[in-house]
Amino acid sequence: SAFVDFEAVALSYDGQDNAIEGIDLSIAEGEFVAFVGPSGCGKSTFMKLCTGLHAPTTGRVRVDGEPVNGPLKITGMAFQNANLLPWRTVLDNVLLPLEIVEPYRRQFRRRREEFAGWARALLNTVGLADYADKYPWQLSGGMQQRASICRALIHRPRLLMLDEPFGALDAFTREELWCVLRDLWQAQRFTVVLVTHDLREAAFLADTVYVMSARPGRVIEKREIALPRPRS
Ligand code: ADP
Ligand code: ADP
Repeated sequence: SAFVDFEAVALSYDGQDNAIEGIDLSIAEGEFVAFVGPSGCGKSTFMKLCTGLHAPTTGRVRVDGEPVNGPLKITGMAFQNANLLPWRTVLDNVLLPLEIVEPYRRQFRRRREEFAGWARALLNTVGLADYADKYPWQLSGGMQQRASICRALIHRPRLLMLDEPFGALDAFTREELWCVLRDLWQAQRFTVVLVTHDLREAAFLADTVYVMSARPGRVIEKREIALPRPRS
């Protein structure tokens, strides 16, 4: 059964040309999919359709069986830039979604210590236990990106959207973070949609890789990754 379901989806920003078109695909709950393709092929547009930030011009987008209308709260997101707030500690950056998303928002004052415990535990799993009380600018780029992945996961989203999350990192740090992400995914089994320019990254992480072409953005190939990867 499909968790994310696209039926004949097209989106046009200008009412003339389609930014993406002919998108027919479904993503199972707990699946890890990657989208690769050149700039302008519609990867970000696809992401925004998944999370309800754009509505399709034609076709249908459903998540968890429901038509998507408006920003979905069951998603977490991370981007190429970690975008941590510099005046907040790492811990308080990770807590941010719990201050915003219901039902946590309502409970935040009362349960703050408990939530902080969740955040510290999550930071621990990505190797940042000793950095919770530091500020983002005291961390390397790789560490900041680990923290931003924690922030994306703290409210237990069912769908994790990753837009070039490792694009700004050096090759060594990037491959370290592949393993961090894979471990988190194997432990928690959220659904992941990863957008990347890096085919090796896509093949290493994803169950299914969609290759897109530009003008208009279309899926030109769907590749199931056959490499046996350990799953807990
Ligand atoms: P990618 O993320 O793969 O680089 P995008 O989804 O950002 O691709 O863009 C797909 C196409 O849609 C591109 O031709 C881009 O110029 C166009 N586009 C993206 N966002 C907008 C927007 N807000 N308004 C108009 N055109 C847009
Ligand atoms: P990483 O160290 O995870 O690769 P970057 O790609 O941001 O992270 O690092 C680029 C360079 O900047 C590295 O030499 C790194 O040691 C240095 N650097 C990163 N963050 C800081 C910081 N907060 N203070 C001083 N130097 C830093």
